[in-house]
This record gives sequence, C-alpha cells and structure tokens, in this order.
Amino acid sequence: METLYNYIEGKLLPPHAGKYIDNYNPAEGKVYSLIPDSDERDVAAAVAAAQHAFAEWSSMPVDKRSAILLRIADLIDRDLDKLALAESIDNGKPVKLARAVDIPRASANMRFFASGAIHFASEAHVTGNEAVNYTLRTPVGVAGCISPWNLPLYLFTWKIAPALAAGCTVVAKPSELTPMTAFLFSQLCIEAGLPKGVLNIVHGLGTKAGQAIVEHPDVTAISFTGGTVTGRKIAATAAPMFKKLSLELGGKNPNIVFADCDFEQAIQTSLHSSFSNQGEICLCGSRIFVEQSIYQKFTDEFVKRTTALVVGDPLLPETTTGALVSEVHMNKILSYIELAKQEGGDILAGGNRVAVAGKCAQGYFIAPTVIAGLDHLCRTNQEEIFGPVVTIMPFETEDEVIRYANSTTYGLSATLWTENLKRAHRISAQLKSGIIWVNCWLFRDLRSPFGGMKQSGVGREGGWEALRFFTEAKNVCIKL
Ligand code: NDP
Repeated sequence: METLYNYIEGKLLPPHAGKYIDNYNPAEGKVYSLIPDSDERDVAAAVAAAQHAFAEWSSMPVDKRSAILLRIADLIDRDLDKLALAESIDNGKPVKLARAVDIPRASANMRFFASGAIHFASEAHVTGNEAVNYTLRTPVGVAGCISPWNLPLYLFTWKIAPALAAGCTVVAKPSELTPMTAFLFSQLCIEAGLPKGVLNIVHGLGTKAGQAIVEHPDVTAISFTGGTVTGRKIAATAAPMFKKLSLELGGKNPNIVFADCDFEQAIQTSLHSSFSNQGEICLCGSRIFVEQSIYQKFTDEFVKRTTALVVGDPLLPETTTGALVSEVHMNKILSYIELAKQEGGDILAGGNRVAVAGKCAQGYFIAPTVIAGLDHLCRTNQEEIFGPVVTIMPFETEDEVIRYANSTTYGLSATLWTENLKRAHRISAQLKSGIIWVNCWLFRDLRSPFGGMKQSGVGREGGWEALRFFTEAKNVCIKL
C-alpha cells in the first residue's frame, strides 16, 4: 500500500506524530493508500520553511518565477494520463472527465497565472500638477491555501498558482479525502526545480492541520474553497487576527429554462450541469426551473436522458457517473432523497443507491436523481446536497422565477436558457449570483472575476483579482 508524504522545505517528509489516515478508493470502498495525519508541528515546520523562502522568491525577477511555474505546467501536461487516473481513483469521478477537464484545467491555471504575473500592472494617479500617486503592490507573505475534494488538482492549483505567481510562498492543504494528485504535484515541483520552501503541502484533517494553518500567526492570507459551514469557522478564526481572507463556498444554483430556448442545447447542457462529476461541482445547477408551456416536454426528455446515464466503474470509458467521494457523503445524499420524499417530492428518476457488479461492488454509487413536485422554499430546495440530485419546477413569469432563483441563502452561479437577448440581460442583472451563464455552463475565461454572493463566498478569485488578493497595496504619494 502506498504511503504519501508531506512536502516541506523541498523534501517529502513523514508527519511528526508518525500517524497516518486511511485513504479510500470510493469506487471500490477500499483503503488503497495512507496519508499523513499532520498536526500543528508539521504546519509550524511548513510555515517556517515558507517564511525562510519568502525573501528569495518574492524578490526573484518575475520572468524567472514565471518560467518555473510554466515548467510545472509542462510536467502536468506530460503526466496527464497518470494524474487523471490518480484523480479518478482518489475521487471516484470518471477517468475520462479527469482527463478532459480536471487535469487540463490544472495546467491551464499554472500557465495563466505564470504569464499573468508578467503582465500585471498597478495604477498611478496624477493629481493635477500637485502630486503623483502610484500603487505599489508587494506579495502578502506566507499564504495558506485550503482546497476541497471535488475537483482536487484543479482547485488546488487555482489557489496556489496565483499565490506563487504573485511572489508569495505557500502552505497548502488538499482535502484529506483526495490527497493523491497534490502528492504527485509535489513530486513535479521538485522535478521542475521550484526552490525549497516556496510551496509546502501538509496533508491531514481539516480540523487539525487545516485549522493549524488558519490559526498560525505568520500565515497572513487565507484562500479557502469548501463548504459554507467550514468557511464560517475559518472566518471566525482568521478575522480577529486581521488576515486577508478569500472564501469560495457552497451553492444551490438555479438553472432557468425559458420556452424560447434552443431546446436541444438546453437539455443536453442541463444534463451536464446537473450530473457532471456526480453533481459534486459547486457550480452544478441543482434547481431546474422550466417555463410552464414547455415544462412537461422538457421534464419527459430530461428524465429519459437521465435514466440513460451509465453509473459504474469510473475507469471504464462508457461510464458517465462514477462513485460519490465517500460513504459518509453518499449517506448524506441518500438522506436528502428521503427528506425530499417526506416533503412531498415525486422521484421521476433514480432515488436509490446503485449496486455495481465486480470490483466496484462495495463502491458508493447513487443513480442520477430527478425530483418534481416540491415547493421552492422546502429544505430540499434550500440546502446544498452536492450530489447527483436535481429538482425540477415549473414557472409562469420572469418575476416569479427571479424570486424562486434568489430565494436561497446561496448566490454562487446561475444558468439561463433563452434566445431573447433583452431578457438575458434583464434577468442576469437581477439574479443574485456571482456567475451567470447564458446558454452555456462551466465556460471559463480565466481573466474574469470568479466568486459567490451571499453565503457562497467573500472576495473574488480569477484573473487580476487573484493576483491582487495575494498582494498588499501601498500608496506612494510624491508631491510635485
Ligand atoms: P469542507 O468545507 O468540508 O472542506 C474544505 C477543505 O477545508 C478541506 O481541505 C478540509 O479538510 C478543510 N477544513 C475542514 N475544516 C477545517 C478547519 N476548521 N480549518 C481549516 N480547514 C478545514 O468542504 P468539502 O471538501 O466537503 O467540499 C465541498 C464543498 O465545497 C461544497 O460545499 C462545495 O459547494 C464547496 N465548493 C465551493 C467551490 C467554489 O468555488 N465556491 C468550488 C468547489 C467546492 P478535510 O477534507 O481534511 O476535512
């Protein structure tokens, strides 16, 4: 059985306590590797290494820093198949999805921020003929980056790439449920010649290793992606210490389908936005609202195609829906399906655990599930389920659907299907979501700000926003 190590000061090290946590392959329900159960001593060593490396890394010419990060991106591309396989085994997602989306987007993150840092500029303001003010941006210091299990390497690099490109050194923790690609990434950093201590990866539990990163007084900025409850706890720890904080949290995203949509495109993409990655994407559209006049037609076709999805071994090419990340998570989703029934929902598709034959017999699989007949305010429609479960509801008017869409405490993303341009603009402006996709889903341009409104997050990532986050702005005023 493989044992993973922390990456501290350029070396792969065992945890101080010598304790390890079982790492499961969720498609087989079996332990297949061991990861360090790190504690505050490992975090302290990682922070000390990062502090030590800061002076050299932050003052290195930006093109040299960029070249090292680009080398890491090249190595990710070289190891695409190996990383995709590791991510699939760790997370349960279909390997073809990891190969097509997760890993290419991870190397794109490295490339984008490596080149972005070279073109980064700050502002200057000429105050008449009296003074010149310019903004000097300097890296914040040691950044703490904490990422979730659903898109492991993709979201891990989404945080550390801008931090490193901006000149920060980093202590990062991947989710304990999906540590493998971060471990392989640490090996690529060594191969690429990343100076020791610039990036440190500490594996372990969120409540122990993660909390120690957030609490450490020498970690000056925290970039966190994960659940809203955890985000609240992190904010409560970091805010009194006046740390810079970026929180990307949960979602309960509306997918709004008007009768004038391109029906085929809306159906096909809604299938992806509902069930890709087993519905374990914070941006999945888990509440589908369909205009009354096409409600029945849309629902019938959507249910037909949902039922045709192939649940099974993530390593097989025909599989569209793999395993849930853990048994605990699977049981949480099944309990939400029970809740939906109690709340009066009709299960139109799925609704059950799936027994997959062969080596995946003990795996954590749930059939893609469609539920109708629920009120938009019931718990099923208000709480994040984060699995292959969507609800479908009719609406009559624009005002009504805007009210439904905005009725949750979340505000991460929304999808809108209409061929009416004016309506698209009108509704986009009224939806309380940080990202609105019109006639598409999960399309990304890395230059755009990314983040949620309301309880879906604080701050924006992506593009210049991320590079700015990892810097401190200082105004220099020169009297003429
Ligand atoms: P969690 O909030 O449980 O965990 C996220 C990360 O935080 C993990 O690495 C976890 O470690 C760690 N952690 C847990 N407790 C603490 C703590 N007290 N201090 C510091 N770190 C801690 O989220 P999940 O991993 O379950 O991810 C799913 C959630 O992430 C969903 O709500 C989803 O919507 C959200 N998400 C948001 C995205 C966005 O961009 N807005 C994108 C993707 C997901 P460990 O796993 O070891 O407990």
